[in-house]
Amino acid sequence: MVLNRPTVDIKKKLVFGLILLTALLIMLVVRIGYIQVNMGDTLIERAYEQQTRDRLISPKRGSILDRNGAELASAETVWSVSVIHVRIDDEEKTARFLADTLELDYDEVYEKVSRKVALNRIKTKVEREAAMKIIEADLPGVVVDEDVKRIYPYNNLASQVIGFVGRDNQGIIGLEAKYDSFLKGKEGKILSQTDVKGYDVGKPDVRQPPTDGYDLLTSIDCTLQQYSGQVIKCAVEAKSAKRGLIVIMNPQNGEIYAMANYPDFNLNEPFKINDDELLKIWADLSSEERNEYLNRMWRNSAINDTYEPGSTFKIITSVAGLEEGVVTEDSPFFCKGYHTVGDRMIKCWRYPRTHGAQTFKEGVQNSCNPVFMMIAERLGAEKYYEYLYKFGFNKKTGIDLSGEASGIMYPVDKAGPVELATMSFGQSIAITPMHLLKAAAIAVNGGRNITPHFGIGLQDSDGNRVETFEYDGGQQVISEKTSETMREILESVVAEGTGNKTYIPGYRIGGKTATSEKLPRKRGKYIASFLAFAPADDPQVMALVLIDEPSGTYYGGSVAGPVMKTLMSNVLPYLGIEPRYTEEELELEEIKETEVPDFTGMNINEAKSLAVKNDFSAEKSGEGDTVKDQFPKNGEKIRKHSKIILYT
Ligand SMILES: [Zn+2]
Repeated sequence: MVLNRPTVDIKKKLVFGLILLTALLIMLVVRIGYIQVNMGDTLIERAYEQQTRDRLISPKRGSILDRNGAELASAETVWSVSVIHVRIDDEEKTARFLADTLELDYDEVYEKVSRKVALNRIKTKVEREAAMKIIEADLPGVVVDEDVKRIYPYNNLASQVIGFVGRDNQGIIGLEAKYDSFLKGKEGKILSQTDVKGYDVGKPDVRQPPTDGYDLLTSIDCTLQQYSGQVIKCAVEAKSAKRGLIVIMNPQNGEIYAMANYPDFNLNEPFKINDDELLKIWADLSSEERNEYLNRMWRNSAINDTYEPGSTFKIITSVAGLEEGVVTEDSPFFCKGYHTVGDRMIKCWRYPRTHGAQTFKEGVQNSCNPVFMMIAERLGAEKYYEYLYKFGFNKKTGIDLSGEASGIMYPVDKAGPVELATMSFGQSIAITPMHLLKAAAIAVNGGRNITPHFGIGLQDSDGNRVETFEYDGGQQVISEKTSETMREILESVVAEGTGNKTYIPGYRIGGKTATSEKLPRKRGKYIASFLAFAPADDPQVMALVLIDEPSGTYYGGSVAGPVMKTLMSNVLPYLGIEPRYTEEELELEEIKETEVPDFTGMNINEAKSLAVKNDFSAEKSGEGDTVKDQFPKNGEKIRKHSKIILYT
């Protein structure tokens, strides 16, 4: 037999094949080595993920606190109920029990219970009673985990400022959105280990605890905020106005004590519309229309909306004139009912009557438009704009809320004589109410810059301060001398001028009224406002009252003036600013004071009759029958006929 020996050709092929095979093997070994060395951790992690059913644990969201530690927003423990399918022994019985206890549809619960997935959530934000019942029943496969729910104990209080959170506890508007990163904390996890098929491997659950969020300490004073909310509500309703705003701020450092918009909304039900008429047609509206209404309801008019400020802006023109030396307190002016600019005749508000001869100080008291047109003329557009920029009207105030609007004004090279003249008394320029407060604060606080704000600092869950916020401020914007002169002039506006409806015996109050015609003009729509500060010689508090579209009388002095008086006569004693009466004032019946009795714990009707017996008027706030709190507090001395608010 002759063996067929392989030919050289075949040998070559075999050798080649062998080499190829070896090369492939080496590559495979290298690859496995690479996977083990470099990707081992990732793969182990991936397998672990596949074999666990993670249950997230919500962290406790930090509270939002007022300046005295009262909780304006807090976190309440609720529970979430889930099922682990493989551990369930009786699907129907489990579904029936959960549907009954959680008040859910049986078919929907059964569908979730019987679905073959590792973990299925049945319901979140479950209240204590139902959660405890489920925990006690201890059904196999049913797990109950702690969760967190945001609550706002004061409902409508400062709603547009505090803001609210979405379903995932993330801040949507207001301080909740601005400080979300500090408030939210970090999620934790519960890991229950299983094999690839989802069966238990007998190892205990691993709990990675969540990290709680920090509490936000704010400058809001809950009592002043409640009171401002009441006052603006009454004012808007009495004048059948479209809306209203009260802001109370410390003009020395920019801390805001209260910011009340009315209408407001309930933070615990932020998607519930606050307008009964609108509610009737709500179901027929498109989702765009609904969003538009909700956004409007949530708007904070102090920072989101601009308006022509009108005469309160004369404070700015006065400051620029005094600082540049084109006018002094006693400079003479003459009002003939109008002022001619180029070929335009621009009227004084008193036209066709006139103010005649007056000093600059009297011109401010009279709020005489020609006086301010003449000052702006003396300054010229470029100088005037320097002051608009110094006061920051061309940018945002820097307040710690999102969505703030910038001022709207003509570019300086487009500001002709007519634009300049109308700007001098607060037209042809649009700013937010917050812009005005910031500028007025600088004008009277000694001339120093401030940044309006709410956030003071952060504290951990044990109450330890972990951060104190710092704001831009302190730089001299105008001279102390000009600021002092402005305080004196603005005090005379309240004592003798158009602001006299805010005069309160014993208190030195400075201020300025404004009546702005809304754009487009000639529709008879106005904004009445009043800006005031006290004590006039050392301002500790500044407030703005703004009433949008009042019906009937619309002048700032008559509409917003009395509201400011009510506000200040309660706010000043509350802040510990004592009245100092002059000899003449001591003779006034109006100032005789009475001590406020303690109404707490009383039935509302008893409390009201006690108030009347003591020469006070009383107003109920709240839905209950028993008085829980009162403003002013028990023991405080207030004037006769003052209003006492009884919180039930
Ligand atoms: Zn005049």
